Amino acid sequence: MQPTLLIIDDSTTLRQQVVEILKGTGIFGTFLEAVNGIDGFKMLLDNPVDVILCDLEMPGMDGLKFLDMHNAHKEIKHIPVILLTGRESQKQKIKALERGASDYVTKPFDPGELIARVKVQLKIKQLQDDLKEQNKRLEELSNTDPLTQLANRRCLMQTLEKECQRSIRNNHSLSMIMADLDHFKRVNDTCGHQQGDVVLKAVAEAIVDELREYDLAARFGGEEFALLLPGTDLSQATFAAERIRKRVAALKFEGCLKNLTITISLGVATGPRKDIQGTDDLVRLSDDALYAAKREGRNRVVIADPE
Ligand code: GH3
Ligand code: MG
Ligand code: MG
Ligand code: MG
Repeated sequence: MQPTLLIIDDSTTLRQQVVEILKGTGIFGTFLEAVNGIDGFKMLLDNPVDVILCDLEMPGMDGLKFLDMHNAHKEIKHIPVILLTGRESQKQKIKALERGASDYVTKPFDPGELIARVKVQLKIKQLQDDLKEQNKRLEELSNTDPLTQLANRRCLMQTLEKECQRSIRNNHSLSMIMADLDHFKRVNDTCGHQQGDVVLKAVAEAIVDELREYDLAARFGGEEFALLLPGTDLSQATFAAERIRKRVAALKFEGCLKNLTITISLGVATGPRKDIQGTDDLVRLSDDALYAAKREGRNRVVIADPE
């Protein structure tokens, strides 16, 4: 998509002049025009903009006031602002740069200089956008288990911390389900590690499918999953666990895996309760319940002992 330029100036002639010059370069796909700061600000909220050209002196909201407003809003403050200033206002130019303008162009401006300065700001904006995108991808990667695409343990523990605090603040229940595949070693031993991975992926998909959008499913360890269900009480969480148990037991596989029975054991715990002080307690209680499920014969859901 081609970038968008917003020009804010009370003079129609100047706006037209700027648009004409920049249209010739073919850099921008869209030109937005506003007659004062307020007008420009409204357009910014409704449109993705890449570079802003803003007059310094305008009736209503002038360039400096516009800069203050631009800076105060984190969703738009990264968009570069090039001030259009008069020749005489040296002090104003310095002030504008200090207040967050990225550059200025003095009127009457030379078309070549205007184009060059706009290009520089656009380039910086695009580099910053790319960097932001890369950081977002890196963050996603650092929170994701590569095999199953579920959240990893690190992400789960961070989310658990936040959700614990939220559940205390809002007095909502927070449930955790710990789940572990039964006799998974046999799967690997019989069909090989790669086929074991096929099962892990299928189970992960089934789990996600049984949860709501705001629940979090994580791969907690090798063949162990931890599920976090905010705003879910013990009976609802037990219900979800039972759904997952049935779903996993009903999974159908091909080839070597066809003759194996894949089942999962699950432990459920729900806070708030007096013996849950920190995040580790919810993990411990659901894990204890999971091991009880293993002891009691696997392929079952066990609820944590009452407090
Ligand atoms: P239990 O019912 O008591 O949980 O028995 P189990 O065999 O599932 O438990 P155990 O902890 O003895 O074995 C877990 C197995 O999971 C051993 C390990 O090789 C396997 N495993 C762990 N991570 C992976 C993985 O990423 N891929 C595959 N294919 N196997 C894995
Ligand atoms: Mg003006
Ligand atoms: Mg296991
Ligand atoms: Mg295990």
